[in-house]
Amino acid sequence: MLGVLSNDIAVDLGTANTLIWMKGKGIVLNEPSIVAFDRTTKKIVAIGREAQAMIGKTHKDIRTIRPLKDGVIADFEIAEGMLRAFIRKISSSWQPSRRIVVCVPSGITEVEKRAVRDSAEHAGAKEVHLIAEPMAAAIGIGLDVEAPVGNMIIDIGGGTTEIAVIALAGIVNDESIRIAGDEMTNAILQFFKKNHNILIGEPTAQGIKHEVGAAMPLDEEVQVEVRGRDLVAGVPRMTTVTSSEIREALSEPILAIVDAVKLSLERTPPELSADILDRGIMLTGGGALLRGLDERLRRETSLPVFVAEDPLTAVVRGTGKVLENLNQYSQVLIKSRRY
Ligand code: ADP
Ligand code: MG
Repeated sequence: MLGVLSNDIAVDLGTANTLIWMKGKGIVLNEPSIVAFDRTTKKIVAIGREAQAMIGKTHKDIRTIRPLKDGVIADFEIAEGMLRAFIRKISSSWQPSRRIVVCVPSGITEVEKRAVRDSAEHAGAKEVHLIAEPMAAAIGIGLDVEAPVGNMIIDIGGGTTEIAVIALAGIVNDESIRIAGDEMTNAILQFFKKNHNILIGEPTAQGIKHEVGAAMPLDEEVQVEVRGRDLVAGVPRMTTVTSSEIREALSEPILAIVDAVKLSLERTPPELSADILDRGIMLTGGGALLRGLDERLRRETSLPVFVAEDPLTAVVRGTGKVLENLNQYSQVLIKSRRY
């Protein structure tokens, strides 16, 4: 490689996954936002994929947590440790004078913004820029956010669903609900408890969601075998469920998302509604991959709905683009107050 590589980075610190973009290089890290740490020493023993493999299988001294809950930093110290460890993983020589662009949910408070800013600074950044997630997602999928045209973006992550209308480099209106992928996973977990008297772990529930979860009836309904612990007998047991049962289990969180989208459309100024009618709604985030969700939203809104290409990386690609062209995109950055 020629020349000196800049270590400026863009970070999508998601509730479910953390992605890092390095200037001139592209995506250099994509791992679950999970930390395993020693309860007594509070020392981090594993992060990312390695920590994920420990979920539900730890002994009493080790705990796995997801330090970002609902899109904001729930456990400050651990989130910071995780960010630092991820940065160390991609570059052993990360210079403290470097720049970081971090995206944050658009609805977060000044205090929450400050927590993100502080984490990035403690992780070694001298210059920290914040950008709203829906804006980053829109840029990531190649929308012209500066145009006098309305675009609706729905980003469904682990903790939050963000619905935003963007025009002229700003967010015109935005709806953020704390119902997204995690709630869907939890709905599946609860369904097994209630209807099958069986307790399953979170990774299992998430796997079922990915495999057979849907927001619309499937062309061909399928069956899955599920293993867990019998709630009455306390012993391991296997049970079989159909995809339509799982769809039923997911109906509540999906309805909440549909309702939020409708509400957001009602609040959109008419000139922008006309644009959305022409251009449709774009779905990003891992939740966009739920089978039939686009079709369901199409039916409920009568609008064109598209799943972005590679929805899981849309936000970091947009944040990276902003990092690569900071001057061009200066107006999309959040002018947050310093304390
Ligand atoms: P965040 O930005 O909060 O980190 P992501 O955009 O990375 O979230 O999305 C993670 C969520 O997407 C998780 O809840 C995960 O279960 C969900 N997800 C990923 N793939 C699929 C899929 N194929 N079907 C349904 N949900 C999915
Ligand atoms: Mg996200």
